[in-house]
Amino acid sequence: MVVTAATGALCGIDCRLITVEVDISNGLPQMEMVGSLSGEVREAQMRVRVALKNTGIALPPQRITVNLAPASLHKEGTQYDLPIAAAMLAAGGFVPKDGLRDCFLAGELGLNGEVKPVCGILPMVLQAREAGMKEVLMAPDNVSEGAVVSGLHIIGVRDLEELITILSEDEETRRKRCVPDEPVSDEENPKADFGDIYGQEGMKRAMEVAAAGFHNLLMIGPPGAGKTMAARRLSSILPPITEEEALEVSKIYSVSGRLGGGGLIRERPFIAPHHSATLQALAGGGRNPKPGLISMAHKGVLFLDETVHFSPAALEVLRQPLEDKKVLVARNNASYEFPAEFMLVAAMNPCPCGNYPDPQRCRCSREQVQRYLGRLSGPLLDRIDLCVELGRVELPDYRKAGEADPDWYSVNMRKRVLGARRMQELRFAGEKICFNAQMGVKELKRYVALGKKEQEYMDTVYERLHLSLRSYHRILKVARTIADLDRSENVEVGQLQEALCYRGVEERYWG
Ligand SMILES: [Zn+2]
Repeated sequence: MVVTAATGALCGIDCRLITVEVDISNGLPQMEMVGSLSGEVREAQMRVRVALKNTGIALPPQRITVNLAPASLHKEGTQYDLPIAAAMLAAGGFVPKDGLRDCFLAGELGLNGEVKPVCGILPMVLQAREAGMKEVLMAPDNVSEGAVVSGLHIIGVRDLEELITILSEDEETRRKRCVPDEPVSDEENPKADFGDIYGQEGMKRAMEVAAAGFHNLLMIGPPGAGKTMAARRLSSILPPITEEEALEVSKIYSVSGRLGGGGLIRERPFIAPHHSATLQALAGGGRNPKPGLISMAHKGVLFLDETVHFSPAALEVLRQPLEDKKVLVARNNASYEFPAEFMLVAAMNPCPCGNYPDPQRCRCSREQVQRYLGRLSGPLLDRIDLCVELGRVELPDYRKAGEADPDWYSVNMRKRVLGARRMQELRFAGEKICFNAQMGVKELKRYVALGKKEQEYMDTVYERLHLSLRSYHRILKVARTIADLDRSENVEVGQLQEALCYRGVEERYWG
């Protein structure tokens, strides 16, 4: 007779429901597992048998067949151990069969019967809830992550002995085991403040515009100009993450095994990969395909320090997510999709010595400078809306350190960002996009209608600077964000001028 248990398979950052079927019947005493399984899943057979033996369970000397359905879905991971063991216990008559009704299980087994945590618990519990399950059994170390989802009972299982106890209990006793829902923690980490940076108001303004419209930004300037310091302060002015975004980001971290026990991710991520990071670390992949650093930056900031030191292949990897807002990882004839919609913040020196275009200090030849700048490929540069130049920190600015302009403290910058965010919320209420940076040609036409004077200005600029259509659109998007920061319904010439300045920097170096 067949006994079933419910579990899940990860597909990207989502989970599909899997039914574990176990049949024990007369025949040669052997165990067989089918259902499009990876090597790792096949090894479950050995782990489950030994773990049961070491728990004192003697399986009947009969033929045991385990099927993971649907067979059309390729299965990876070690979460199948626990549901397979549970279904075998029920099929062998060691626990009542109704013990598995409306119960979802996921966990790896040690040979001693201990239940170990697995990656991706959050999407699995979400799937269990959607499928109408009432309980989810998992390793104690996974419980705080599972408890993020409300509406079902999360039960931690230490080992197979405890599993037998739990599955034999009546519903009421079992409910008493379930952990209360995780309280949401409100504590906020103190963040570095833009007020700590002396002067550099041009850079701060560019950061404010980027944060308000979620625009990609490039900072160029000599070493020690404070590019890294500036990037690290960006988090302090970003608009808060929405509930929906928090859940999506948390799923990515869950599948990567990096969610930990603190509940949902409540802040926009800030990810700064080192330029020596491997392509797999950046894009994701591996034996059990996991999201890479690019996906970890989803809905937050991906900061590339010393951008030209990244290999051309690494920079190429960024192209797809910048275009499509996702990363595709191919493996085993299957393709896994991980979301990757981030704000790119890139920083670089202008030349090998770092002092170009200062003729007094720069010792590089024209060719050296060109080759250096050329490492930032056209397609990547094409995706950057704002380009800002950082100068050396001048002494008078340094002396004024203690008395920075309150306008450029993070708290006040963030207020303006939130105002601009509100304007965009209203504007894009019925649309699929949330930020100005995401506008396509259609949205630009609808939401950035220029007045007569403004149109004339842009026509002149377009002709005089030989703008590409793409650059033209970028200027409009940035101008829209600047107008939003000014709480202005219409885009005016002054705002177009400022947007053009950010493009002018790019022109100076790459034009
Ligand atoms: Zn130089």
